[in-house]
Amino acid sequence: QCVSVCPVGALHERNYIWEVIEALADPNKKVIAQVAPAVRVALGEEFGMDVGLNVEKKIVTALKKMGFDGVFDTTWAADLTIMEEATELKERLEGYLSGDKTIKLPILTSCCPAWVNFIEYNFPNLLDIPSTSKSPQQMFSAIAKNVWAPKMGIDRKNLVVVSIMPCLAKKYEASRTEFIKDGNRDTDISISTRELADMIKYFNIDFKEVIGQEFDSPMGEYTGAGIIFGRTGGVLEAALRTAYEWVVGEELKDIDFLKLEISKGLIVKKVNFGPKELTIGIAHGLGNARKLLEEIESGKEIYHAIEIMACHYGCVGGGGQPFVHENIDILNKRVEALNDIDKNCKLRKSHENPYINNLYNEYFDFPCSEKAKILLHTRFFKK
Ligand code: SF4
Repeated sequence: QCVSVCPVGALHERNYIWEVIEALADPNKKVIAQVAPAVRVALGEEFGMDVGLNVEKKIVTALKKMGFDGVFDTTWAADLTIMEEATELKERLEGYLSGDKTIKLPILTSCCPAWVNFIEYNFPNLLDIPSTSKSPQQMFSAIAKNVWAPKMGIDRKNLVVVSIMPCLAKKYEASRTEFIKDGNRDTDISISTRELADMIKYFNIDFKEVIGQEFDSPMGEYTGAGIIFGRTGGVLEAALRTAYEWVVGEELKDIDFLKLEISKGLIVKKVNFGPKELTIGIAHGLGNARKLLEEIESGKEIYHAIEIMACHYGCVGGGGQPFVHENIDILNKRVEALNDIDKNCKLRKSHENPYINNLYNEYFDFPCSEKAKILLHTRFFKK
């Protein structure tokens, strides 16, 4: 089993740390970072720290020492992705359950660029079912360039957004033309967890001894739902926490109701959703993804929602993470670490994130509004 090679990222393995260092040295640029959920539970391994240790606060300090003008959390944008995706799920489910035959199900989560690439090439006839919500990386950058920068009086061309990802395919996602405006990318540079480790070493920062600090606000506060994006099943689980309350109209008391056994790689599950029952499918690894998509294509089973992650165990096992050399124990520890962060969060549902709700009040009005569709949604292409 191959557990640390990015399925489409090989062509994007190029190291981008010199571009980041150049931007940091340019007095005309403001350089900000966004850090993905899975990075924080793996980076410490590069410095001999315990597997699964959450080093998010140390990452903030290390990046500030390098000269970053702001350090934010992609997890915040994961909560935003859920607001849009859960709204799409709610709309499609309500239409479908009321008997509208024009509604397409299942809805597919589309946060994984390797998987998006895979479906564009291999299943072009299924391109109307993925959620159109952008991934957290691209939502963060869209907000940073189009909402945050103007508020701060910064021209988008002088703002450099660096994403720190567990993923090599995110470099490819950042370069897609639909995420470029007037020749300027939303995500300027994407580097991996391993590249971040190289930068920390290059700047001679004693990472183990660094005193941690909080992410910058307001694009730094997250809920437990956002953090589990970093492991298989997390995006769908987060979406269902919100969609349940919106569709059923009751508080979801048992937040851990899914109880996923992600080591299986392909999970098919019936879920109680108020008076209804949903069938969900979750797959990691593109072999499992193919099986799931072929089953959907054949119409053998009706799925309401599915999630596919290209890497084994999801982003914790991404191609940009410290190498695990097929050690499943390491992947399990990273997954457990994310689950622990989730369980210890005061807020565990994306729609409870007050900073996300403020963004809607101030800018978008409501999820999937016309304004939100322009900035927070994307398209897919037959390839
Ligand atoms: Fe990247 Fe995560 Fe997809 Fe792997 S599962 S390709 S790390 S987004």
